[in-house]
Amino acid sequence: MARWKKNGGSYWWRNNNGITMTANGEKDAGQPMLGWTEDQEDDYYLRPGLRFALAREKKQDRCLAILTFVAFFMLVVIGTCIIVLTTRHYVKPCTVCDSVESAMNLSVDPCQDFYEYTCGNWVANVKVPEGYSKWGTFGEVYSRNNDLLLKLLAEEGYEYNGNHSEALRKAKNYYHACMNVTAIEEAGSAPLKQLLNQLGGWSILPRNTPGIVDWDETSFDLTRDLTSIHLKDGSPLFDMGIAPDEKNSSVGIIQFVQDGIGFNAIELYSDNVTTHEEAYAALGAKVVLLLSLADDESVVLENITSHSSYAPALERMRNIVEFEANISKIYMPKNLVRDPSKTYTKVTVKEFADIIPQINMTYYLNEMFATAISPDRKILVPTFSYFVKLNDLLKQTDKRTLADYLTWNAVKPTLRFLPKIYEDIILKYSSVFSGSNTTVPLWQKCLQRTDNTFTFVTGALFVREVVTPQLKNETQDLIHYIQDAFIGNLPNVTWMDDATKEAAEEKAYAIKPKIGFPDWIEDTVQLDAYFKDINITATSVFQNAMNVGHYSLLYLRDLLDKPVDKNEWHMGPSEVNAYYSATFNEIVFPSGILQAPFYDVSRPMSMNFGGIGMVMGHELTHGFDNHGREFDKDGNLRDWWGNASAVAYKNKTDCMVDQYSSYKIGDKHVDGVFTLGENIADNGGLKLAYQAYQQWRETFNDTMGLLSGLGMSQDQLFFVGFSQVWCSYATPQSAEMSILTDTHTAEKFRVNGAVSNMPVFSDVFNCPSGTPMNPKKKCEVW
Ligand SMILES: [Zn+2]
Repeated sequence: MARWKKNGGSYWWRNNNGITMTANGEKDAGQPMLGWTEDQEDDYYLRPGLRFALAREKKQDRCLAILTFVAFFMLVVIGTCIIVLTTRHYVKPCTVCDSVESAMNLSVDPCQDFYEYTCGNWVANVKVPEGYSKWGTFGEVYSRNNDLLLKLLAEEGYEYNGNHSEALRKAKNYYHACMNVTAIEEAGSAPLKQLLNQLGGWSILPRNTPGIVDWDETSFDLTRDLTSIHLKDGSPLFDMGIAPDEKNSSVGIIQFVQDGIGFNAIELYSDNVTTHEEAYAALGAKVVLLLSLADDESVVLENITSHSSYAPALERMRNIVEFEANISKIYMPKNLVRDPSKTYTKVTVKEFADIIPQINMTYYLNEMFATAISPDRKILVPTFSYFVKLNDLLKQTDKRTLADYLTWNAVKPTLRFLPKIYEDIILKYSSVFSGSNTTVPLWQKCLQRTDNTFTFVTGALFVREVVTPQLKNETQDLIHYIQDAFIGNLPNVTWMDDATKEAAEEKAYAIKPKIGFPDWIEDTVQLDAYFKDINITATSVFQNAMNVGHYSLLYLRDLLDKPVDKNEWHMGPSEVNAYYSATFNEIVFPSGILQAPFYDVSRPMSMNFGGIGMVMGHELTHGFDNHGREFDKDGNLRDWWGNASAVAYKNKTDCMVDQYSSYKIGDKHVDGVFTLGENIADNGGLKLAYQAYQQWRETFNDTMGLLSGLGMSQDQLFFVGFSQVWCSYATPQSAEMSILTDTHTAEKFRVNGAVSNMPVFSDVFNCPSGTPMNPKKKCEVW
């Protein structure tokens, strides 16, 4: 079932597909398969197709203060900050100079490879923490945030700002239950067996499996069995949720999208059995084997595949994988799915039900919402053709394979909450995708799960420590410099007609920034009310997971026929990331990213503009990337472009498609179409940040810039500051997965691709024409 209800919907399911654009990809893009690596686990694991969207067990705020800005008012605010900024940057020594220099590889010519020049030594000396197949500056900040959160969660009591908080008590109990290894080992497989009994057993298990009822083939009912699993938070065959209607974004609407494959990329399925598919089948077979052991029987990981029950289980799992491969063949292609104007399909429930009679959609919807859903109700089905073909596939597939597959989708998300042997088989599986044979420590897994589930509780603890009104004010000021730079640049956009330009300006002015965190989280009454429907035990991590799933269901039901709450946040306060939402027309920067090296008072402002300034410009430019441009200032999907301007835009972006497609990772080319939106945002973001910095300098002095020994100019430091927030390491496996699954280009190309398109970069570093960072052909959209 869809958990995008939790995060507001279509912009989230499209997140995978490009509408809500983040600054950074997954925390560890190399391990996206089923999400069994814990550094990102909750997202991937529970709902592979909708990883950012669904698993975050957080609700949006209902009554927070609105962070909208009146431009005139902001001018006053900027004025009050002048002294603060000037003073700070005059007197503070450059305490970060050493770390900036030590990351650089000064033996490399910046005009040849700027990323290597700025990050070479960082990459050469990086110590990747256990469990990660990709690591970078984002990870370092995230890890620092986690250390702080751990300390805060370990504090005694349940008081926040002097008040008792039930939500805080629940969050702490959730964490402690997760850490309770003794209880988890003692419970063994019993909690999963109990779940399977609720679902009527599992067809793949041998008869007379201890503790699990035998599956009864005669009682199989596709609609009913599918619905039971969606009610429990799985999403076999498709996903369903409530999200803004893209053509009327203040109204929520039921949406159905394709889902239900175990991999995040259909390319990993093949007619010839691949290593990935075989690893996936082996994983399932081991789970089946562990479940079917006699009460007095145990196995160790090394011997598991030689057990007599393993081979038959493997055969059955291979059928499931083959079925998923068949699903992947009818998936709408990812680059099409990501285009909202090409996939906007509004039909009635009856019209939808008629194209997929193999499933009783009326029954399904009535059960999911616990109320009668009218056949005349309008819904959105962006992947409409998928459902047409799914009906045929379901007709052709035997009952037993369907039954095996459905219940596998209920089993998968729970494996993380079982004893260590399950964790070991998960690691063996995920290493095929990640190239990493280690897992993150338990405390980190539990912390991340807690942060995902109670993101506004942990967020409240976090912001109390790190966010000051001054930080909020200063970063808000930066956003306005960026917004002004975009608007100030519009007269130079020669390929756009005046009417379209005017509409673009209106949209840019209308973009709402949200900074830091929603204010309501500091009010324990509101925080407690927000989490009141979630039950947490101090003893069972498995039961807690089930309760979180139920809470999501209640949340979905609560969204029905409610207006969209545009105050909601779709990221937790401690996250090191940022996003643009097209239906909200907003840019959001959680406090997790408002820290060094993105923003740091002890750095020259040139580096801050290169760091957080570029991220802000990146998010703003998403409003005008190849998909963001299809939404108007009110967040509605509407064509506001003159024909000639639209054609010119396409030509401009084609240049970037070609440029990025020419980059290679190993022997694979970057997908210039898949990554286009992010590349437009990177290029626009860097340019806006540079222009904003020049504007800032007209008022302020940035005297702290000369790094010891380097003697770099402020403008050079701007680019160094930009590049170094993207220093990154990935295993080859992880890098290869990223090409398939991550809409962001690899960091090396994010840096070199953007600087090589900027003439001013070559001026600043004296790059001769024709060098790699100063090619004769340059691409520019904004
Ligand atoms: Zn982005």
